[in-house]
Formats: sequence, C-alpha cells, structure tokens
Amino acid sequence: MSNLNRRTFISQVSAAAVVTGLSSFPFISRANSSKDDKKLGIALIGLGSYAVGQLMPALEKTEHVKLVGLVTGTPDKAKRYGAKYNIPEKNIYNYQNFDTIASNPDIDVVYIVLPNSMHKEFTLRAAKAGKHVICEKPMAMNAGECRDMIDGCKKAGVSLSIGYRLHYEPYTQRIMQMAKEQPYGKVLYVHAADGFRMMRPTDQWRAKSPLGGGALMDMGVYALQAARLSTGLEPVSVSGQMFNSDPTVFEGVDESTSFQLEFPGNAVANCFASFGGNVNFLNINAEKGEYGLRPFMNYNGLHGFLPRGETFDFPVMNQQAAQMDGMCLSIMEKKPSITTGEEGLRDMIIIDAIRESVSKGGKKIML
Ligand code: NAD
Repeated sequence: MSNLNRRTFISQVSAAAVVTGLSSFPFISRANSSKDDKKLGIALIGLGSYAVGQLMPALEKTEHVKLVGLVTGTPDKAKRYGAKYNIPEKNIYNYQNFDTIASNPDIDVVYIVLPNSMHKEFTLRAAKAGKHVICEKPMAMNAGECRDMIDGCKKAGVSLSIGYRLHYEPYTQRIMQMAKEQPYGKVLYVHAADGFRMMRPTDQWRAKSPLGGGALMDMGVYALQAARLSTGLEPVSVSGQMFNSDPTVFEGVDESTSFQLEFPGNAVANCFASFGGNVNFLNINAEKGEYGLRPFMNYNGLHGFLPRGETFDFPVMNQQAAQMDGMCLSIMEKKPSITTGEEGLRDMIIIDAIRESVSKGGKKIML
C-alpha cells in the first residue's frame, strides 16, 4: 500500500465502521422474556489464562450476555469448566467440530481468546457459522488478515469487535475526553510504556514468532492505543527499534520494542513495550502541564494524576464485564461497538509500519 493510501485508509476507516454490514444483523428479539433470557449467549474459544482467569468470572457479572458455550482442544478443560459453569454437553465444542456451532441457537456470540496466529481462522469460521465475533487483541498477524476478517464478517452480516477492554473503563475514557476538551491546552508529547518480566519464555506462544508472539504484538498495542487515544489523533509517521537479549529464548520475536509516532500538529509519542521488565505508565505533556495514568493498563488499580499534584480515581469495576456488556448491547441494538474490527485494523496498519521501520534500520515510515 502506498503512503498516501495507507494514511487515507487509517483516517477513513472510522467512517467506514458506521456502515459495515450492520443493517444485515439478525434481528434479536427477546421481548416478553425473563431477565436471563434477554441476555445474549456467548461461547469462549480457547480456555487459557485470560479466558479462565478474567472472562469467565466477568461473565458472572454481565447484564447483557451469559456464558453458554465452550470451545477447547483439551477434554479435561471441557469437563472442568463445563461443570463449573453449568454448560450443557451440547454447547461444548473442540477445534475440529467447531463449525457445527452454526446450528446451535443458544450461542449468539463467540469470543476468540486464542494465540494471535489463530484469530483470523476462527473469526472467519465463526462468521461463516453466523455468529457475532469478539476477537482478542492484537486483532491478527498483520493488516491484510484484519481486512479479510472485516470482509468475512461483513459478508456474513455479523458484528466484529476487538477486545480493547480499556475503552470501556473510566480512566481511559477520561483521557479520551481530555484529548477532546484540551483542559491543559494542546497535547505536545506522550510517553507510554508497558511490559512485564516474562518467566519461562521458552514455554510460551508469546515468545514464538509463528504464533504471533513478541512484545510489540502483545504489549505494544496498549502503548499504541494510549498514544492514539490521548492525542485523539492518527499518526502521520512512525519509526521503531527492536531489542532481543537472547534470540535462543525469544525466537524470531522482539523482547522489547521502542517506537515513535508523529502526529499532525507536531505532537510526538514515545512508546515502549517489553517482556523484559515491569513497566506501566502513560504520561501526557500538554501546553499547561503534565497528566496521565500510572498504571494505565492493569485490570484494576489504575490511578490518574493531573498537574499541580492533583489526582483522580474511580470506583472499582470489572473492565471485562463492562466490555462484553457494551459489545453485546450494541449487537442487540444493531449498532457498531466502540471497538470495531476497523479499530483493530488501524492499529495493525501502524504495527506493520513499525516492523517496516525496524527492517529498514529504524527509518521513519510515512503513513
Ligand atoms: P494462554 O496461553 O493463557 O491461552 C491460550 C489458549 O489457546 C490456551 O487455552 C491454549 O490451550 C489454546 N491454544 C490452542 N492452540 C494453541 C497453540 N497452537 N499454542 C498455544 N496455545 C494454543 O494465552 P492468553 O493469555 O489467554 O491469551 C489469549 C489471547 O488473549 C491473546 O490474543 C492475547 O493477546 C489475549 N489477551 C488479552 C488480554 C486483555 O487484557 N485484553 C489479556 C491477556 C490475553
């Protein structure tokens, strides 16, 4: 894609989200039914740490969606979580028989919580089965895969949302609001960093290239989102550098990545993502002072700071419950969610450009 096309696409993709395939959503009518019957039924695909540790408990708190199905390659997990969450045998699938989910009326939505390399395949299979799709971040391996996923869901008349949970929680929403209202003047500089010290990387798909691993893919999307959301702008150029202290451990992937984004009007962001150490902050320097979040991307315990030593906090909430409720309510209302496939694509176009920059020795790439 040429620079002009890439840039035009990133900015036009927001407008496109409003019209993608939504008019052809199946009409879901749950009038005159009990409170629980009004909820959409969701199946989780991939019962790893995020699905089991965060999404399953969150689904006990949701108002608009309930856990009714599981898809797993491990019979033991099917038995254990099927029993724990009272899932009928007929709603439990494996990766081979998954496509037969098409004839299961209990399941309206499937949530893909698999390694990144499997997101495209299962999004397309779910769409073909007529199910609405929630897919975890990062949306896919590259922008081309994201486009195929958006097209597949559009053709099938199902919605596609990406698991950007922070859009649904109040700290990030406040930062987005401040980008619009500019209470401290124009944003000049953003510094966002997130990472954790990965234990036993050789056992993890996150450290393997063919499965979509690497710090940029796993953690970089948060810093990238933070920079885009806190400026309210789309970058015009990117550059990137990758670091790997031990290529026998991090096979063909980045252990850490630094990237810089240049925004229209001269705002600049410096972003860092890492598997090498614990780091988690968003600093925003505006004309009249510095504000931000520290930490900015945890499941809870976020904390906001403002110029002159002021701070802000919100009551504890469940981000994943708010996210799944928000997405499922928009399906019921036949509206796009606030985190569509187009939002995932926008990030992936920038990630592709960061990789291009790295391959060219850190050269600035125009978007
Ligand atoms: P995980 O390794 O804990 O779980 C992955 C699941 O996929 C496991 O159940 C595993 O059995 C299954 N799987 C199927 N085929 C596999 C294969 N070939 N190799 C490895 N596992 C395979 O990973 P996770 O932390 O649950 O992450 C899953 C997805 O969720 C990723 O896309 C990740 O980026 C995303 N995630 C998002 C958040 C968030 O806050 N939004 C947090 C964590 C993870």
